[in-house]
Amino acid sequence: MLNGEKKIARPLRWGMVGGGRLGQVGYKHRIGALRDNTAFTLVAGAFDIDPERGKDFGVNLGVDESRCYENYQTMFAQEAEKEDGLEVVSIATPNGTHYEITKAALEAGLHVICEKPLFFTSAEGEEIKALAEEKGKIVGVTYGFSGNQLLLQMRAMIEQGKIGDIRVVELQYTHGFSSTEDADKFNDAQKWRVDPKIAGPTFVLGDLSTHTYYMSKLIMPDMKIEKLLCDRQSFISSRAPLEDNAFVMMHYENGAVGRLWTSSVNAGCMDGHRIRIVGSKASLEWWDSKPSELRYEVQGEPVQTLIRAMPYLDEQCNADERLGALHMEGLSDAWSNIYLKFAVAIDAKNRGDEETLHSLVYPDIDAGIDGIRWLENCVRSAENGSAWVDFSDQPVGSA
Ligand code: NAD
Repeated sequence: MLNGEKKIARPLRWGMVGGGRLGQVGYKHRIGALRDNTAFTLVAGAFDIDPERGKDFGVNLGVDESRCYENYQTMFAQEAEKEDGLEVVSIATPNGTHYEITKAALEAGLHVICEKPLFFTSAEGEEIKALAEEKGKIVGVTYGFSGNQLLLQMRAMIEQGKIGDIRVVELQYTHGFSSTEDADKFNDAQKWRVDPKIAGPTFVLGDLSTHTYYMSKLIMPDMKIEKLLCDRQSFISSRAPLEDNAFVMMHYENGAVGRLWTSSVNAGCMDGHRIRIVGSKASLEWWDSKPSELRYEVQGEPVQTLIRAMPYLDEQCNADERLGALHMEGLSDAWSNIYLKFAVAIDAKNRGDEETLHSLVYPDIDAGIDGIRWLENCVRSAENGSAWVDFSDQPVGSA
């Protein structure tokens, strides 16, 4: 169980690009990073595309005015001159900027924590992975929901054979906030999400399903997709070619089949993620609207609801517990869990501690690249008339 005690020798000097006053996701990063006060200290930021608003915001967060920068280029250059300069930066800007900011940060000698989808192409991902290796730096990806520790319980139970052989994988991440065309006109964060120049080759597949896809890999690390079929739609036609709804069918190498539904036009839906793994003996099911509960359904027995923090759970699940049983945790705690693992990874990388790096389960650059490959394969299928395509783990060109 976590209690806020330090996991690394001292907090890392941390900054942000983006995540400003009007940004949707910035506060989640700050909740995650600053929760324990022993992992990260916020020392600098280029928080906003509008420099004045960014400076005012940074000062209100308690950052020294001289370290609230007008843009990330100036921040990286000036912080590199300081003895107590930045060590790690989080990137919480629209998708189309992730690659250039990550590259500039690594070249400035910083570790990077970046939003998803990581980049537009897996070729960019491989290039950045090589650069990070050359510079001896970590690139983490904020698949924030994946910090819900009951996902590690699912991973442990599957590994222990508690559900038998996996047969069916059912994944869903949907909401209804883009059900009307108006959503694209009045919400700045929505406007760029339907512009391929900024969002990339997908809308909901990249915005939503990359999370769920990573969570499925976290739960079932040994399951490899052999081929998939993606059927995507733009119910609001002005969004085409970007989809606001998609179904993806999957065949896994072990003979299992899967289905993922992602949508921003699931009107009225407020449940978010649903993950159901069906095995030959039993099934596991988790919804993020009830993050403290995991259903374990053994064929022929009464349904069991496993509750977060209880001693019957696996130790790798309870290692991420913060509040204890009877007290609700949720997305803020999930982000804190992910950020704490980023801090431990960065510290291990700085110390050359490969053993810790290999044993730590967290969304690293490979998870980011894997998410891009997922998107590339989905787009390739969709553009070929929703054909079945072999799941390529190589860059696949057009996407
Ligand atoms: P947003 O449009 O609400 O906010 C973007 C922020 O970045 C704003 O503060 C803007 O001023 C700032 N910005 C833009 N360009 C900048 C630049 N060049 N330099 C400095 N600041 C800049 O977007 P959002 O919804 O917060 O999404 C941002 C990223 O986070 C996207 O990649 C999105 O996919 C991702 N996201 C992830 C999650 C998650 O759960 N991990 C949730 C929401 C969004």
